[in-house]
Amino acid sequence: MQTSDAQQAAKQIREWIDTSTFAVAFTGAGISTESGIPDFRSPGGMWSKYRTVYFDEFCESTEARHEYWRQKSEAHRKFADAEPNVTHRTLSAWEASGKLHGVITQNIDGLHQQAGSERVQQLHGTAREVCCLDCSWHDHIDRWVKEFQKTDQVPECPKCGGRLKHATVSFGQPLPANVLNASIEWAIQSDLFLALGSSLIVEPAASLPRIAASGGAKLVIINRDETPLDGLASLTVRAALGEVFEVVNDS
Ligand code: ZN
Repeated sequence: MQTSDAQQAAKQIREWIDTSTFAVAFTGAGISTESGIPDFRSPGGMWSKYRTVYFDEFCESTEARHEYWRQKSEAHRKFADAEPNVTHRTLSAWEASGKLHGVITQNIDGLHQQAGSERVQQLHGTAREVCCLDCSWHDHIDRWVKEFQKTDQVPECPKCGGRLKHATVSFGQPLPANVLNASIEWAIQSDLFLALGSSLIVEPAASLPRIAASGGAKLVIINRDETPLDGLASLTVRAALGEVFEVVNDS
């Protein structure tokens, strides 16, 4: 394992991304906090003032659905103005130029797509859409949050009258199998795996870099704090992503 400062790391990453044939980026909360989105799983984070609405409750209780929509509408105001940062933009540019196969993300804010990334595996779904639990109908989120804010009524699916929920993975809800399988497949195929801004503790975040590394991929971990997988990495950097990616772009 090589530990490196932002300057050296940028140079090394630049070299590896130019010579890899199947590079994959994996992103966690750290990339979004640099766009001003709070890390909602951290202690004292914005969600600690809310009670958790578990998926089963959401499915079964009208009151729980109302509480869920109230919380999400409040959070929506904070998400809505966030803009992609230099790291999102770099990953998107790499995809466009054929240097990066795609992005696997734990985030639900849609900032990768906003930056122009097209191949994005969203392990926890997206807060930019609503989805009907009963017929899988999808729509952009904005209209439905506005309607809830105006009426204080939980919206119903216009197609089947079913239960509309943010297209995110709630506590107690399984990860989407197709997304998870595609992510594992990418990790297996990768020869360069960039783990960016994730503590790599929760599953499947802990497994994907491990799968990549055991298949022989170079593993790069950039995170403010150490992670349990640092020992497997070809390069670890303890820095803000922006510090590294500003330099990657300049070099
Ligand atoms: Zn429906």
